[in-house]
Amino acid sequence: MDIEKLNLSGVDNRRPIVIAGPCSAETEEQCIESAKGLVKQGVKIFRAGVWKPRTKPGGFEGNGETALEWLKQVKQETGMYVSTEVATAKHVELALKAGVDLLWIGARTTADPFAVQEIADTLKGVDVPVLIKNPVNPDLDLWIGAIERVFNAGVHRIGVIHRGFSSYDKKLYRNLPQWHIPIELHRRIPELPIFCDPSHIGGRRDLIAPLCQQAMDLQLDGLIVEAHCNPEKAWTDASQQVTPEVLGLILNTLVIREMNQSTETISELRKQIDEIDMTITETLAKRMRISREIGQYKKEHDMAILQTSRYDEIINRRVAEGKAMGMGEDFMKEVFEAIHSESVRQQMEVMNK
Ligand code: PEP
Ligand code: MN
Repeated sequence: MDIEKLNLSGVDNRRPIVIAGPCSAETEEQCIESAKGLVKQGVKIFRAGVWKPRTKPGGFEGNGETALEWLKQVKQETGMYVSTEVATAKHVELALKAGVDLLWIGARTTADPFAVQEIADTLKGVDVPVLIKNPVNPDLDLWIGAIERVFNAGVHRIGVIHRGFSSYDKKLYRNLPQWHIPIELHRRIPELPIFCDPSHIGGRRDLIAPLCQQAMDLQLDGLIVEAHCNPEKAWTDASQQVTPEVLGLILNTLVIREMNQSTETISELRKQIDEIDMTITETLAKRMRISREIGQYKKEHDMAILQTSRYDEIINRRVAEGKAMGMGEDFMKEVFEAIHSESVRQQMEVMNK
């Protein structure tokens, strides 16, 4: 795919390219005040939702066409580029008519090939940059499919936004980052600029700074952050928005590490990692051989494979040991649950022979 740079004149291509603005365009004053605050922090691209996809009916669904006028106003008064979310052909037409400089396709829309195709068809012959958010579900091919639909319509200034993935049990994050997915996307389409949306991943303003830093450390290209002149009073997503001033602080404290990965130190360290991984694999294989021996013994003595007390003991002990060595509890649990389940599989094989 011959993806082109976003090419917005006056916007530096150096990382991170920053897009910021409120979740929703609520009033003209709120848009202008937020935008003016952001300009002071050096932000050049404004975001604001004009049509808001809501989980349940009855909430604030955006001001639609009226709000497009406020985006025009932002452009006139601040000189910023403006961007908004489009989900239907009608949205695209209205946004383009209002001179919106950059469109994005929201996560719920990306998950729907019919909707993406409708948007793509409307974009035929139009030269406007489009950012495609990942679908709500962790399906890389569906994400790439949406990129291809837009690309095939002749839009070549394309970027993507990583906004995390829904999961039933919410823990720290509103949407799980699953960083391996945008990383794999980068491997498949290296020229595609990737923005991180720490606001929708974290769902909490205190997670924005660490998520921005992680995105930069993973070599992502840009950030799209929700910033509002009065975040606590925001009509949508109040808990995840920051003031323009706080965003300025976050951006100024980011450490941008350079991409050069071929230094000698790194390749030396990588060699060590390769060797350690080999040792881990060999050790695992050895553990499995012993498991199979146990399986043989259980078979000969008519014993059940799964012995819950032994299982609990293994997991608890390994988690505690790992923790004492500075590793996360969840990580240790996942590793040993996976090892145990492979062990059980191997014993079953022996017993059913
Ligand atoms: C948004 O950007 O305000 C939004 C609705 O995001 P998402 O599509 O990622 O949920
Ligand atoms: Mn939002």
